[in-house]
Parts: sequence; C-alpha cells; structure tokens
Amino acid sequence: MQGTVAGRELLEPRSLADAVKMLRDEGPLVPMAGCTDLYVALNFGTLRPTRFLNLWNLDTLRGIEARGQTLRIGALTTYTDLITSGVIRRRLPMLAAAAREVGGVQIQNRGTLGGNVANASPAGDTLPVLLAVDTVVVLRSAAGTRRLPMTSFYTGYRQTAARQDELIVTFEIPAVRGRQWFRKVGTRAAQAISKVVVAGVWDKARAGARPRLAMGSVAPIPLRLSQTEHALGSGAPLAEAQAVLQREIAPIDDLRSTEEYRRQVAANLLGQFCAETSRR
Ligand SMILES: Cc1cc2nc3c(=O)[nH]c(=O)nc-3n(C[C@H](O)[C@H](O)[C@H](O)COP(=O)(O)OP(=O)(O)OC[C@H]3O[C@@H](n4cnc5c(N)ncnc54)[C@H](O)[C@@H]3O)c2cc1C
Repeated sequence: MQGTVAGRELLEPRSLADAVKMLRDEGPLVPMAGCTDLYVALNFGTLRPTRFLNLWNLDTLRGIEARGQTLRIGALTTYTDLITSGVIRRRLPMLAAAAREVGGVQIQNRGTLGGNVANASPAGDTLPVLLAVDTVVVLRSAAGTRRLPMTSFYTGYRQTAARQDELIVTFEIPAVRGRQWFRKVGTRAAQAISKVVVAGVWDKARAGARPRLAMGSVAPIPLRLSQTEHALGSGAPLAEAQAVLQREIAPIDDLRSTEEYRRQVAANLLGQFCAETSRR
C-alpha cells in the first residue's frame, strides 16, 4: 500500500555540525538527500522510518574540486553536476558517462552521488566507477571523521560499514592514469536498472600496470574484480581471465535478468574492456 508523509518528522539542520549533532542526540534519523530512492520506498509503502534529517540545504556537502592529485566530490553532488563538470570530464570521464545513464533528467537533477552510494544497491551505476578508482569514502559523525576505502564499504546485501550516526560527506579519488571505460547493459537506453554494469581503467602504456575493474548487478554487493585484474595483469589470455571472472561473480536470476545472461554479458564486457583499452 502506498505510504504517506503524514505522521513523519523532518529535522532541518543549518550546518554539517548541526546535522551530526542531531544524528547523535536525536537519532535514529534517516538522512534525506535528493529523495529519489526514499520517495520510491514511500510510494511502495516500504518506508518504515518516521524521522528524517534533511541534508539538501547543506551546501558544504556540494562541489567538485581537484586538489593536487586528489579529486574531491561532495556527497550532495548531483548527476547533473557530474555531467556538466569540466573537472570530471578531464579527470574522471567514466563517472560522467555513468551519471548520463542514470534515470532521466529529473532524476539526474535531484539524485546525488552520496545517495547512490549509501543506498547500496548492487545495481547502482556509479558504484563500479568509484570502486575501480580506489575511492575513499569520507564519513563524519559528532565524534569525528573516518576514511574508508570503498572496497571495504559494502559489507553485505544493501549493507555498508557506515554507522547510524555517520553521514557520507565526501569522496576522495586519487589520480587516475590510463584509459577509462564504462558500460551499462540494461533493457533500454534510459530509465532502466542495470542488468550488468562495469567500469575499468588500464594504463597499458605503463609496463606492468595492472587493470582495475569493478562490476555491478553480478553479486549481492558491487564487486571490485581483484582476481580477474590479477589474471589480466599477469598476461593471462582472455579466455582464462573470463574463467576467473566467472568464479569471482555470483549473479542471480531476478525480474530484470537471469544468472546465465548476466554471466555471458559479463564475459563479453571483459573482452570489450580488453580490446578497447588497447586502442590509442
Ligand atoms: C525513476 C528512477 C530512475 C532511476 N534510475 C537509476 C539508474 O539508472 N541507475 C542508478 O544507479 N540509480 C537509479 N535510480 C536510483 C537513484 O536515483 C539513486 O540511487 C540516487 O543517486 C539516490 O540519491 P538521492 O540523493 O536521491 O538519495 P535519497 O533518496 O535521499 O537517499 C537514498 C539513501 O541514501 C541515504 N543517504 C543519502 N545521502 C546520504 C549521505 N550523505 N550520508 C549518508 N546517507 C545518505 C538515505 O538515508 C537513503 O537511505 C533511479 C531512481 C528513480 C526514482
């Protein structure tokens, strides 16, 4: 049954310090950013919590900046911000490519990177990008700041290592060298959840450089494919790397696809990644 906003409470912090104090002293509260996922849950009648913390007006959580080698992206950065950012185009074009594939324009204007990461869907389109480039998730609570590698952020199906009193504030991304590559396979070009989504980078010009690869919709959590990376980096032929990939992923049958189809697509995408990151 469709949910309703009646009987729910929204707290309005005026600063980040205010927000984390509210989480500590007035919790449990559910952070609310662009609300694109939360609203779907409300509509489906599955949104149980009644108390929310509105992050939307906290401008300190917005912005994209390159500081030396590190790219910093605020949690409230929207898909539209990513698509239109010159810094992202230059430093992390595959993140703009992923953002362009998310929903439609309305969702791109409202949905945030922090929300995509915190929502922890294994099909989230930006997650393989962030995983492949060794992103650090910066969390803030009233007790201080914690930095977690994205590769240890997801602990189980729709579960993260963030505590209830913590907010995601920023993503820190070290310099990325090599050709970036992103593909989303869905039912149609727009407004479709991924059947398989992959991001990778491989600096083939640098001797001994290992590829970095991550996939979504092929396991309970978005996966960094370290064993497949190792096989490719050690010069294994594609068929061998594809066999390693099949052992590394654990796709399921669901309403969007089948395990068999996902396995085939994942193998094909690995082949495309290898071929296309070789081109100059
Ligand atoms: C029509 C439609 C199409 C979509 N298409 C796609 C698609 O193609 N690909 C895709 O990946 N996604 C898609 N989505 C999902 C969605 O838009 C994203 O997951 C979005 O990025 C969520 O961001 P938000 O700001 O709206 O999050 P919200 O809905 O506000 O929050 C989502 C979750 O994240 C938590 N949260 C938000 N910000 C923070 C923070 N800073 N710190 C801690 N927790 C936080 C919230 O508590 C909540 O649990 C679609 C959604 C809709 C409605």
